[in-house]
Amino acid sequence: MPLPAWVPIREELRDDEPYGAPQLDVPVQLNTNENPYGPSEIVAQDIGDSVRDAALSLNRYPDREAIGLRTALAAYLGHGLTPDRVWAANGSNEIMQQVLQAFGGPGRTAVSFAPTYSMYPEYARNTHTRWVAGRRLDDFGLDVDGALELIAAEQPDVVILTSPNNPTGTALDPAHTRAIAEAAPGIVVVDEAYAEFRRDGTPSALELLDEFPRLLVTRTMSKAFALAGGRLGYVAANAGIIDALRIVRLPYHLSAVSQAAATAALRHEDELLAQVDALRGTRDETAAWLREQGFDVAESDANFILFGRFDDRHAVWQGLLDLGVLIREVGPLEWLRVSIGTPDEMTAFRHALLEVTR
Ligand SMILES: *Cc1c(COP(=O)(O)O)cnc(C)c1O
Repeated sequence: MPLPAWVPIREELRDDEPYGAPQLDVPVQLNTNENPYGPSEIVAQDIGDSVRDAALSLNRYPDREAIGLRTALAAYLGHGLTPDRVWAANGSNEIMQQVLQAFGGPGRTAVSFAPTYSMYPEYARNTHTRWVAGRRLDDFGLDVDGALELIAAEQPDVVILTSPNNPTGTALDPAHTRAIAEAAPGIVVVDEAYAEFRRDGTPSALELLDEFPRLLVTRTMSKAFALAGGRLGYVAANAGIIDALRIVRLPYHLSAVSQAAATAALRHEDELLAQVDALRGTRDETAAWLREQGFDVAESDANFILFGRFDDRHAVWQGLLDLGVLIREVGPLEWLRVSIGTPDEMTAFRHALLEVTR
């Protein structure tokens, strides 16, 4: 629905739609890469108690620096990280917007490699940052030579890499991350929203932080930690980079309620992450099954799978929805993305997919 002409929005925003996958109330929801396993009673109780304690001082502004939470996040990440090298915000979406507010902006350029996360161009738009998208290889791996050429030509202020990538599931070869960090003249962000789901032997870019002072690694509690509703994302980097992000953050951006909830959740790291292994197993089984049925399947280190190919993917998406299974119509045109749910949900997905495509 276009905005009425009297709404004096910036012209370049006039025809845009708010971002978001359909939020439909259907039995099997496999469309936004959420964790299908909610927090247990024990975790919910601890979060509730912590939020109640925080509520007693809601007349005061929260800790602007979120020191308690950043200390807990640094401990979770390990790699010798300290609270001054970790920053938190309302989802890693807000982190990425702060990154572009601080390091992008008018006259500046950000580069990424498509197909990738469709929010990035929107952060660029919102911050008046010029957006340039290189292309990935046919198997959705990073074309590192092409990437280095593009970086040499554009001299971008910000390079965004995504590992594992959304919507393809592809993890980055650490040698490629290193090559790009060496070549990039500005900031390099590795978005590791799905890091906890990567297969054994796939390293995290956290290992490169000490070597590259302009490298940032973003993470989120939305996926592996089953806390999408809590809105808590974070980033690890050099302390100087964190100080730059602190300049553009809104005062008191992270509410006392959010800080209390996330800090409580982190006390239950073991339990919250316990389902990650099960989800990785279900992912690998689902990928194998899809291949057996003759579908093309992108290699996935995440909690979702991109599969195809369909001449009319919308018809397949709609057919599944009509059977109560909501997946995501996103990414390259002939492909669809399914998030990994519980075994029962995946059974429903398999049956529905066969019914729609056979
Ligand atoms: C889900 C996702 C995020 C996380 O977003 P939050 O704001 O932390 O919920 C970040 N990057 C990518 C690529 C994602 O898919």
